Amino acid sequence: MPDDSNLTPERSDFIRDMIGQDVAEGRNDGWVITRFPPEPNGYLHIGHAKSICLNFGLSLENAPKARCHLRFDDTNPVKEDTEYVDSIMEDVRWLGFDWGQYLFYASDYFEKLYAFAEQLITKGLAYVDDLTSEQMREFRGTLTEPGRDSPHRSRTVEENLDLFRRMRAGEFSDGARILRAKIDMAHPNMNMRDPALYRILHAHHHRTGDAWCIYPMYDYAHPLSDALEGITHSLCTLEFEHHRPLYEWLINHAEGLPSNPYQREFARLNLTYTVMSKRKLLFLVKEGHVSGWDDPRMPTLSGFRRRGYTPESIRSFCLAVGLTKFKSLTDVAVLEHTIREDLNKRALRAYAVLRPIKVIIENYPEDQVEYLEAPNSPDNPEAGIRQIPLCREVYIEQEDFMENPIAGFHRLFPGGEVRLKFAFCIICKEVIKNADGSIKELICTFDDTTRHGKKPEGRTKPKGIIHWVSARHAIDAEVRLYDRLFRSEEPDAGESDFLEDINPDSLTVIQNAKLEPSLKEATAGSHYQFERVGYFYVDPKDSQAGQPFFNRTVGLKDSWAKEGLKKS
Ligand code: ATP
Ligand code: MG
Repeated sequence: MPDDSNLTPERSDFIRDMIGQDVAEGRNDGWVITRFPPEPNGYLHIGHAKSICLNFGLSLENAPKARCHLRFDDTNPVKEDTEYVDSIMEDVRWLGFDWGQYLFYASDYFEKLYAFAEQLITKGLAYVDDLTSEQMREFRGTLTEPGRDSPHRSRTVEENLDLFRRMRAGEFSDGARILRAKIDMAHPNMNMRDPALYRILHAHHHRTGDAWCIYPMYDYAHPLSDALEGITHSLCTLEFEHHRPLYEWLINHAEGLPSNPYQREFARLNLTYTVMSKRKLLFLVKEGHVSGWDDPRMPTLSGFRRRGYTPESIRSFCLAVGLTKFKSLTDVAVLEHTIREDLNKRALRAYAVLRPIKVIIENYPEDQVEYLEAPNSPDNPEAGIRQIPLCREVYIEQEDFMENPIAGFHRLFPGGEVRLKFAFCIICKEVIKNADGSIKELICTFDDTTRHGKKPEGRTKPKGIIHWVSARHAIDAEVRLYDRLFRSEEPDAGESDFLEDINPDSLTVIQNAKLEPSLKEATAGSHYQFERVGYFYVDPKDSQAGQPFFNRTVGLKDSWAKEGLKKS
């Protein structure tokens, strides 16, 4: 059941306070118009979710005089693709947000953006430069030294207009010329030292085709697109703080803009054990380190979705992280906690043995089958009960047996006694080995008087309770255990290549896990808690009717048995 309770929670932060004040003062007639402006050059990641929850959240909180636009900042044709456009729309919707009719593309404004550029040239505020990019870097100066004026800076308006038009007409090759704002080469903020506005790029654009061979720079297109759409509050991440003066310069100098937006910055989301840059994520995909953008180990929204994260849990997480102006690193355990809380409520319980060892209960009648009742969700009686079959042979986890038990091991060992959950207690009589010395099966006996939780007579009550699956009834399924993709907390931080930090054990595929028979009909996209093992999701891509594949979403907090399986 989708749950939209945390779409508009009560909260306060510096952005909301500021917007609240604007509304109270009647700025923009009390309207709050925000935008989420992804560049379609990759799939959305969990960092984007923070921005989506903020921008779309604000529009819901300030309704009816509010809305949030989805705008594709598609100004770099070389890296962009419609595959990304489609995935971004799917992911925003999946998170629970809707842009309604307010879907925009920066490329829709190319003609207008071009006209503003001519306007700036005419006002003497922009010029065409012929310096190479290397020369431009040299002329730019440093943080401690002012830059120098380009020799082309003093071109006349006519000359600039002519050259700019010829740039558009395709007369020059890539990189031969560039349009720059004419601001101040000695400005203390490097972004104000005559920043580039337009570059020549003979490249096919996924929407405008070959209509253009000059493309606006992000820093130029972004503020003007905001203003053209009537955005009131342009919220972005801290890296753009130093671009704010340019944002304001453009808004102030372009004439005829329908609105007067302002930009404010908040800290981006960073997660431990995670890389978040799209460039690096693309690299992981292209080089085959993961199976695709939706690989369940990826921090992309499509990866989290395929792993079994719910939109509610990701929204709760964004809420928990909050908004600040300070760089920070969030522990990925916070995210794992959020999804556990959510799945604890919604996941049905089931029995699965991942690494089986066969137990033969020798005093149990050979052809008998009995059915034991198990609740589908212990905290939610409405979810009902199901019947779990039991017969003479069952599978238990290898980890629940130790031939030579260490001190404090309370599960099964030779001569030891353990409870099979919902059934009865068994005692291990004998260990049968294969020729190579590995364990083939365990011969046990059961005590019929220990059903319904009754303690054995004359013996101490076994401390261990383990799960099991009837061998005759079990179905085989592929189960994938995912672990962190990187080994260190900050794979991005060091000098060395982030690829060297990849966790070689981030994926363990178990081909023939033994599952309780009801799971044969598990439908793609449903959540289960395999008791004592973890939360699992029926893979929506690979599963077919009658043949489910299970992705581990997250391990369990050691919950009902103290000697629960070690988190693997
Ligand atoms: P990346 O740095 O991962 O390549 P980006 O900033 O280039 O991301 P965009 O498509 O331009 O990606 O991002 C769209 C919006 O999402 C921007 O407003 C950006 O500020 C925001 N955003 C991107 N990454 C994060 C993050 N880690 N935390 C919060 N917001 C983010
Ligand atoms: Mg960007």
